[in-house]
Amino acid sequence: MIQIHDKYFKPFISAEKINDALDKMVANLVADLKDEVPVFVGILNGSFMLVSDFVKKYPKPCEVTFIKLASYEGVKSTEDIQRLIGLTQDLTGRTVVILEDIIDTGNTLSEIHRIFKNEKVKDLKIATLFHKPEAYKKDYKLHYVGMEIADKFIIGYGLDYNGLGRDLPEVYQIKTTQYMTNIVLFGPPGAGKGTQANFLKEKYNLVHISTGDVFRYNIKNETALGNLAKSYMDKGELVPDQVTIDMLEAEVEKNADAEGFIFDGFPRTNAQADALDKLMNTKDSQINAMIALEVEDEVLVTRLIERGKTSGRPDDADESIIRNRIKEYYSKTAILKEYYNAQNKYFGVDGIGSIEDITKRLSVVIDKL
Ligand code: AMP
Repeated sequence: MIQIHDKYFKPFISAEKINDALDKMVANLVADLKDEVPVFVGILNGSFMLVSDFVKKYPKPCEVTFIKLASYEGVKSTEDIQRLIGLTQDLTGRTVVILEDIIDTGNTLSEIHRIFKNEKVKDLKIATLFHKPEAYKKDYKLHYVGMEIADKFIIGYGLDYNGLGRDLPEVYQIKTTQYMTNIVLFGPPGAGKGTQANFLKEKYNLVHISTGDVFRYNIKNETALGNLAKSYMDKGELVPDQVTIDMLEAEVEKNADAEGFIFDGFPRTNAQADALDKLMNTKDSQINAMIALEVEDEVLVTRLIERGKTSGRPDDADESIIRNRIKEYYSKTAILKEYYNAQNKYFGVDGIGSIEDITKRLSVVIDKL
């Protein structure tokens, strides 16, 4: 995802897909024009990249010229088209192919037809890389269309948002849902994830989801999910992935308006991390960071035994179960450091010190996201 000015955009059409669409357009055009030498007319500014790639692919002689029209203000196509640079050559009797990056409302196209009405060209063909059928309000024929797309604002490959984004080799689509901050709070059992999440959720207005807490809630209420999870939890083992993933998705869906989430105790396996990425993707969002609380094992054991005196958690009550939870962490969960490291999203924080100091350390990381 990228940010331009105040808006966020997600990858939409790859450079390869654009390339394939251009190949098809060129092939269709050559088949129609045969040995006719066309004059390609690019509509500036947006079409500069398309025209360059298009004419390089065009296998026969051709001429290239540009006119400059402006119709966009911010993210809205306006009715008012300005002609900034007009035609500079005589096109009488020529086959003219308009090369447009995008045709949406068709307002620019009306202006083009108006310009060419008096030009006595032999043939006027319209070629556009992108077309938004839902937005199109005119009857002009579009002879060559690279790709039909939904009526959402796009940038890249010549198209801009208030001046920026034209240089991107691929196309991005505007994100319509609000920007979320999503954090995975990571670390072995007893690292202090739950304690810290309680402070961070207030400070950053995020929804805290602790899979352990949700399981315990279900156990207390003797639900089917609770009964299933209990058998694993009591031994300090992980609950099966699909059960946990389904539960987590349901928790996220319950908070559709959240400004973001703190995931505590999830993901714990690669399959869970993949599922979380997919889930965030459906929300036009992503995990921004995995922040790990780093604490030595013996400190963890001491902390958990101490917590067990008051927490009432069966899995805190017995040192061998505590050690099994830590073992599960190292054998199944610790590998996720690599998963997020590979995406440059892993941040380690010293988890030893006062609660306030550790909150401050975590905040330094979050404030930079
Ligand atoms: P926690 O409260 O995070 O220490 O979790 C307590 C127990 O709940 C764990 O030992 C597991 O049995 C179970 N659990 C919590 N989160 C998960 C998860 N993401 N995947 C599998 N099991 C989990």
